[in-house]
Amino acid sequence: MARDFTQVGVIGLGTMGAGIVEVFARNGINVVAVEASDEAVERGRGVLERSTQRALDRGKLTQEDRDALIGRVTFTSALADLKDCQLVVEAVPEQLELKRGIFSEVDKVVADDAILATNTSSLSVTEISVATSNPKRVVGMHFFNPAPVLKFVEVISTVVTSQDVIEDVKALAERLGKMPVVVGDKAGFIANALLFGYLNHAVSMFEQKYATREDIDAAMRFGCGYPMGPLALMDLIGLDTAYEILDTMYKQGRDRLHAPSPIIKQMVTAGLKGRKSGKGFYTYEAPGSSKVVDDALTPVSAEAAQTALRTIAKVGVVGSGTMATGIIEVFAKAGYDVTYVARADAKVEAVRASIEKSFDKAIGRGKATEDDKAAAVGRLTGTTSLDDLADVDIVVEAVVEDLKVKQTLFENLDEICKPGAILATTTSSLPVIQCGAVTKRPEDVIGMHFFNPAQVMKLVEVVTTVSTAADVTATVQDLCAKLGKVAVTCGDRAGFIVNALLFPYLNDAVKMLEAHYATADDIDTAMKTGCSLPMGPFELLDVVGLDVSLAIERELYVEFRERGFAPAPMLEHLVTAGYLGRKTGRGFRNYA
Ligand code: NAD
Repeated sequence: MARDFTQVGVIGLGTMGAGIVEVFARNGINVVAVEASDEAVERGRGVLERSTQRALDRGKLTQEDRDALIGRVTFTSALADLKDCQLVVEAVPEQLELKRGIFSEVDKVVADDAILATNTSSLSVTEISVATSNPKRVVGMHFFNPAPVLKFVEVISTVVTSQDVIEDVKALAERLGKMPVVVGDKAGFIANALLFGYLNHAVSMFEQKYATREDIDAAMRFGCGYPMGPLALMDLIGLDTAYEILDTMYKQGRDRLHAPSPIIKQMVTAGLKGRKSGKGFYTYEAPGSSKVVDDALTPVSAEAAQTALRTIAKVGVVGSGTMATGIIEVFAKAGYDVTYVARADAKVEAVRASIEKSFDKAIGRGKATEDDKAAAVGRLTGTTSLDDLADVDIVVEAVVEDLKVKQTLFENLDEICKPGAILATTTSSLPVIQCGAVTKRPEDVIGMHFFNPAQVMKLVEVVTTVSTAADVTATVQDLCAKLGKVAVTCGDRAGFIVNALLFPYLNDAVKMLEAHYATADDIDTAMKTGCSLPMGPFELLDVVGLDVSLAIERELYVEFRERGFAPAPMLEHLVTAGYLGRKTGRGFRNYA
């Protein structure tokens, strides 16, 4: 018969434990909440009181419900008080010996049929379980941060966990309004195993000064629609916890990409543990606060830095494909005169027609007027001759992704364009310096990597080469702001910021599927529900196209020579078979 949970225990009331207590109490279950000392008990009580007060203030909880919720929780510093609990969830720091000690003690306190669960993110549930007299009743119950908000729970079954224990914990998770997924006992389970390689990579970008913390975070928010950037997420998770998770994953899998970036350990040692200590990658108003305040790393504006900007009034765009058309529309909408160059008169016309159609749609939705359309279209000059770009202040090229074609174009632009004109490429994969090096003005050459559709996506990666002049960078950053875009600036490496962080993670998901650790559905659910990502990795791969994804992964592999970046064989095979995703009706999934 299934267990009925009326009283549960939670041990450790830190970042996770306090939230887990709230989840149970909100759902009508009595909770015995245990901390290490009376002082820590009071801290834990404070967290619950503040969290429920916020819910009350926002009208998400009534005073009566809040009183009842708090009334269900008994705070204590004695493990013996857990004796009547049908389930105990442990959420103490991520240290194996600490957890094993606690399990050994709790095992003696609770009834024989009580379930013992650990909220560990990466430690072996099996190793924790054998510290008890009955490992069959030990299970992992991995909540996500913040526990009251995120609707996902990984239920970890060891090779000996009883089936009835798994079933009962699953049913309980559902009763708590969470979506449970059962997986085996492997470091990181689904979500962290995929997330932490990405987080660690982002930290190493920051450590290497490849981009600023703000730009790394903005890139993933505006380029991928992530609710939070990776460094802000590290601060939320806690750098000490993140370190332990990476370290455990590295020790188990020996994947170099999981070896914690050195700066994490340094920050933990210095007490910079993230939000909970008031400072991590960012500085917060107070410990526990989510409000970021300025510090020494906060970027200064070009104005404050007193960088003289070049004047941009007339713009040139070369190309007539999807990206070029979008970019032309963005410039024209922002009030710039645009001369665009296509290879044939018909293409010149097609671009204009496409932009007119886009305006008609916007007018239909009440988002633009006929006057807006007339004004924007009036700013367009289409031509088939590059010579017409002689007097523009900046050229953005978006021609085919072929190095030879782009280099010839840059040689020509170098001859034609006036001195001081900025030459930008929107390449997503070629080294920008390859375009700069064929000109006599490499200091004026820069990358402006727009995202598709350019009219909609807010992000532009501004890619500076070893030669790009500071005033060119500042001018392009300022131009992006005038276009209503968010500019992030980075060095000239394969994948820039977004693709370099995104594709190794997608590849890891394929490898996890290939290893039969979890299904594509469970992996997608984990990343969407547990990490609030807009799409699961398989959903996204099918949308992007498996051929495009494979090409990007190969580039990253060739540039960085990281074994972990080598494309998963399964992806290669799907591409070989012609299963390219939505566009062919079949990829990781079938589409009608
Ligand atoms: P934390 O440092 O914020 O909190 C741990 C709490 O445990 C502290 O309040 C500490 O006083 C208390 N504690 C220490 N020893 C104790 C003892 N002997 N008895 C009772 N309480 C004790 O850590 P956290 O981030 O909440 O992590 C807790 C667990 O949850 C870890 O296993 C972690 O891997 C896991 N987890 C963390 C996250 C996250 O995002 N932070 C997400 C999911 C799971």
